[in-house]
This record gives sequence, C-alpha cells and structure tokens, in this order.
Amino acid sequence: MYVDFHTHTTASDGTLSPVQLIERAKACKIEMLSITDHDTILAYEHLSAETLEGIRLIPGIEFSTQWKKLEIHVIGLNIQLGNTVLNEGIRLQQQARFERAQRITEKFDKLGITISLSKLEYNAGNKSIGRPHFARYLVESKFVKDEKEAFEKYLKAGKPAYCQPQWSPLTDVINWIHRAGGSAVLAHPLKYGLTRTKLKNLIDDFIHAGGEALETISGRQDPAHTLELTKVCKEKNLLASCGSDFHQPGQHWAELGKFSGLPEPELQLWQTW
Ligand code: AMP
Ligand code: MN
Ligand code: MN
Ligand code: MN
Repeated sequence: MYVDFHTHTTASDGTLSPVQLIERAKACKIEMLSITDHDTILAYEHLSAETLEGIRLIPGIEFSTQWKKLEIHVIGLNIQLGNTVLNEGIRLQQQARFERAQRITEKFDKLGITISLSKLEYNAGNKSIGRPHFARYLVESKFVKDEKEAFEKYLKAGKPAYCQPQWSPLTDVINWIHRAGGSAVLAHPLKYGLTRTKLKNLIDDFIHAGGEALETISGRQDPAHTLELTKVCKEKNLLASCGSDFHQPGQHWAELGKFSGLPEPELQLWQTW
C-alpha cells in the first residue's frame, strides 16, 4: 500500500493547490495521504466529496517549534480539524510567521531590496507565509538564480535576512496536537544537522513531552538512515511515520509516496487508523 504523511500545498509553501495535490496522489496510487502544511490546516477547507473519493485523507499539520534555540518541526497527524486548542495554537504560529515576515522585509530593506508583503505571492490566498515566498520573489526579481541560492545568500540561519522566529516550544505544540486527538511525529530527524548526541537529547525531550513517532523516512533517503531511525524507534518504544515532504513537482528526491522500505507493520503509526 502506498501512503504519504507529509506533503505541502499552496496553503503554505507548496506549489500545487490542495485539489491538484490530491489528484496527483491518486495518480501515484496513494491510498492514505496527509496534507501537512506549515502551521495551517486551510488546505482542508472546501474539499468536495468528488475530490476525496478514492483516497483516505488524514488531517495533518507541520508545526515549527523551538527547541534549545533550534527550529524543529513536529507533524500532527489524525487531528480533529476545528479543535479550539489547536486553532489557538495555529493562531499563535500565524502571528509569529507574520511578525517574522515583517522583520525579514525590514532586513531586506537595509540590504537595498524592497519587498512589500502585500506583493508577495502568499497574499493572494491568505497563506501561511514562510521564507520560500521570499525566495520565490527574489528569483522572480532576478536577485538570485534559484530558491536554493536565496536561502544560501539571504534566508538561512546566519545569513543577512535571517530573523529569529518566535515559534512555540516543543511541549506546547505537542500538547495542541494531543488535545486535538492527534499523534505527534518528529519530522525529518536527520535533517537538522545535529550530532548524534544532540539528536538523542532531542528525541528524549520529544518523548518526555509525549511525542509518539519518528518520521523514519523523509523522501528519497539512504536506506541506512531508515534502518538507523527504525532502530531508535524500537529502542525507545516509538512508532514510525513516513512522508515525502513534497512541495512541488520536479523535485525527484521528494516525489509523492515514492519511497521504499516502510517500517514493520507493528511500528506503523497509521496501523490503527
Ligand atoms: P519557514 O517555514 O518559513 O521557516 O521556511 C522553511 C521552509 O523553507 C522549509 O519547509 C522548506 O520548504 C524551505 N527551505 C528550507 N531550506 C531551504 C533551502 N536551503 N533551499 C530551498 N528551500 C528551503
Ligand atoms: Mn516547506
Ligand atoms: Mn519540515
Ligand atoms: Mn515539510
């Protein structure tokens, strides 16, 4: 069975609309899909019965959180949409995103690059604003050749337009997910550039805060990494989730559901859904 529990749409920094993403997932023969936009569940609004036919959509979200000054992502899966605690958490995160975006424009201003927030593509659909929206603007305006360069030159930590975000702490985010009846998954654990000791500390804190699963597969990855994370799940009594982190067509390393080596059935977070 093909599954994918980590994808993005135009509600955050993906390029396909929710309907387009679901159609693509169906074409990829995916049976269970979660849309996990950054700090928003807007993709789940206005989906018709026809769109949802032939696929099981599991409500989800990818929260940005703060852990020891680092930005860590936690995915909430199988959440109840409309839960008031969850909605309040989303409101806080959106406020943090908007304030950070304003600070980013101020930094660009000082660098001689004027970006009006209202002109950024994100405004068209009341989206969850993120650095990729700035990156796309810089590409379109020919300041850089691609989004990667925009991050390398301006947007990533330590670069001149980077602003420290005010994400909610790990414990709060996991609490919102639980209050909405969902499961908390530590997203792409090997993509934070942590030493093995720091990663172990993160996973221990994640468990202590009530987190239940690791994303053992994130897009196309070295099978040795899948094995390593699966081993941690077994040692720490965690479940496993997997997803592509799809943002747009053409990124072969993050195509929908195209990963191999799912964890053993007893580790699969989604077994009981
Ligand atoms: P934000 O949520 O605003 O902090 O932006 C983070 C998002 O930017 C990630 O989810 C990726 O989609 C994207 N991203 C992060 N690093 C890079 C990079 N080096 N090149 C291109 N996109 C990136
Ligand atoms: Mn993203
Ligand atoms: Mn992420
Ligand atoms: Mn993601």
